[in-house]
Amino acid sequence: MVEALLADSTYAGHPLHSALAALWELYLTQAQRLDRIARLSDRVQFSERVHERTRTERFEKQLRQLEKMTRISDRYQDMMHELNSALQQASTHDALTSLPNRRLLNDRLKQEAARSKRLETPLCIGLLDIDHFKQVNDTFGHDAGDEVLRTVACATRDSLREYDLCGRWGGEEFLLLLPAISLEDAEATMQRLTELLHGLRFDCLSEEYRISASIGLTAYRQDERPEDAVARADAALLEAKRGGRNRVTVAA
Ligand code: GH3
Ligand code: MG
Ligand code: MG
Repeated sequence: MVEALLADSTYAGHPLHSALAALWELYLTQAQRLDRIARLSDRVQFSERVHERTRTERFEKQLRQLEKMTRISDRYQDMMHELNSALQQASTHDALTSLPNRRLLNDRLKQEAARSKRLETPLCIGLLDIDHFKQVNDTFGHDAGDEVLRTVACATRDSLREYDLCGRWGGEEFLLLLPAISLEDAEATMQRLTELLHGLRFDCLSEEYRISASIGLTAYRQDERPEDAVARADAALLEAKRGGRNRVTVAA
């Protein structure tokens, strides 16, 4: 309508004509600007949305990576735990018999001696050595010797009480820690053990072959070092060997 009025020659000389023309011109310019601004704003909004989407995608991807890393780290931790316990077992137990090794026996010996002192309860210590074991190896081979060691270890452990401890002290020698038992009762237990071992039969040896073991036994004295008691058991063991083997000798 404004354009039609401005184009109409009837109003050419009208005093408001030039003012309306100027106003119209201004309106057109402003309308173009508004249009440009609207287009620009649309573009900004669009790119914002695109950015937002890529940010979300990036975030989700990082989250997935993080979850994967957490799972891997959990698996590594489990493996470390398993390795640690395997290492712990290997450093404290004998590989052939799975019994406690000398290191663990020494630790437990100190603990048991301290407990015996504190509670004033008896602690008996036995040292068991298989008789003529070299002969087993020489006659039937080293593998047969290993089998005998495993069986003796198993039979000895199974013959003891739950809170006794039996470990491999060295080659064919086993240390027995027997807490809260009198020397007389411990001697009877050790006697039964030598009889049990002498009665064992082995597929890897000949039908008639019987093994035997000698045991030196003593009671821990609360004013001595634990190793002194072991030395006394060792001396008693030597005496059992000298006395003919397959027997228990007590060092009082
Ligand atoms: P004794 O009655 O005086 O104790 O005689 P022995 O033959 O048992 O004692 P000796 O010390 O002469 O021999 C012990 C043998 O034990 C020698 C060694 O080769 C054997 N031995 C030690 N450790 C192992 C082992 O792990 N496996 C096998 N198969 N033999 C072993
Ligand atoms: Mg021996
Ligand atoms: Mg020996």
